[in-house]
Amino acid sequence: MSTRPRHYLGLLDRYRDRLPVTPGMRIISLCEGNTPLIPLENLSREAGHDVKIYAKFEGLNPTGSFKDRGMTMAVTQAVHEGTKAVICASTGNTSAAAAAYAARAGVRAFVLIPEGKIALGKLAQAMIQGAVVVQIEGNFDDGMRIVKEMADAAPIAIVNSINPYRLQGQKTAAFEIVDELGRAPDYHCIPVGNAGNISAYWTGFSEYAAVSPRTAACGFCTDACAFPHPAVCDTRPVMVGYQAAGSAPFVRGGPVENPETIATAIRIGNPQSWHLAWAAVNESGGWVDELTDEEILKAQKLLAEREGVFCEPASAISVGGLLRDIKAGKIKPGSVITCTLTGHGLKDPDTAIKQSDGAVLRIPADTDAVKRAILDRM
Ligand SMILES: *Cc1c(COP(=O)(O)O)cnc(C)c1O
Repeated sequence: MSTRPRHYLGLLDRYRDRLPVTPGMRIISLCEGNTPLIPLENLSREAGHDVKIYAKFEGLNPTGSFKDRGMTMAVTQAVHEGTKAVICASTGNTSAAAAAYAARAGVRAFVLIPEGKIALGKLAQAMIQGAVVVQIEGNFDDGMRIVKEMADAAPIAIVNSINPYRLQGQKTAAFEIVDELGRAPDYHCIPVGNAGNISAYWTGFSEYAAVSPRTAACGFCTDACAFPHPAVCDTRPVMVGYQAAGSAPFVRGGPVENPETIATAIRIGNPQSWHLAWAAVNESGGWVDELTDEEILKAQKLLAEREGVFCEPASAISVGGLLRDIKAGKIKPGSVITCTLTGHGLKDPDTAIKQSDGAVLRIPADTDAVKRAILDRM
């Protein structure tokens, strides 16, 4: 008998029992999800306090960000309802994902991007995947307002995270983390922009904690559970959100008029999932804090240099914030912590190259010169 594992067909297939997937539905998928949970061994050791830090590297989704998780669900549902076009406002990654899934489904994608502030890789994706790219003379929040009005005026599905199907798809990242660890983490750290993702993770962790067929505290451990605390499987993590200082409505306590940050993916002043995100933070006993652009870039570089993980600036904020909070004594010693790295570093090569200014040596095409340059640096 063949024991060959089944082909992985994406998260709607894997978690269909926990998603609004109906029998016979045409699933629009790029085999997204199933991203690695990378143990950050060097950073964990250097952080001390016996912590174990893991990165959920969502940059390894098909279009390079977690937006694929929500988009497979949202576009599948939109196509199911007979929609011929989808629309979104985007700081970049949503438009890349919308364009990809729309292309696959054979429907049109319209994407509204803010003027000038979009990472080049993201723009390239939306363009080559055939989306109609509309650059507005305004920011993300302006785009969001216009998109909502457009959906009232035309038969077109909004695929921003105000679409509840997006969050349904995105909650599967929490499922994967618990499935992988065999337990929930003690803390989950995550960048916060429009605040859909933190809300989706909380939904995912909560749903998994609630399904407890063995009532004896744990829905996931088998009888041979290898984890020393059988009760941990029905716990939920403390949710910790991080925002960029120039774009931190959750820290300010209300919308920010002209959000600014190098982390363009979270350059959002009026987050749409305001209440859901606060519920996640408050119910879990968590907090939201802010990092300066300088701290964000430092974290991006640290992850690349110390762990070989190249994520975009907005993503690195989760690890940068965590390391600061460990130092500040806000994280219990011995904790298991997961951080979402929301998008791939290749999305925004300009920022990475600027960060590494002068890192390229220029010397003559001469072996002795190369030898000198290398031996000096061994
Ligand atoms: C969309 C995005 C975020 C922010 O997620 P929200 O759900 O809007 O809070 C963070 N990082 C990256 C790379 C993103 O694309």
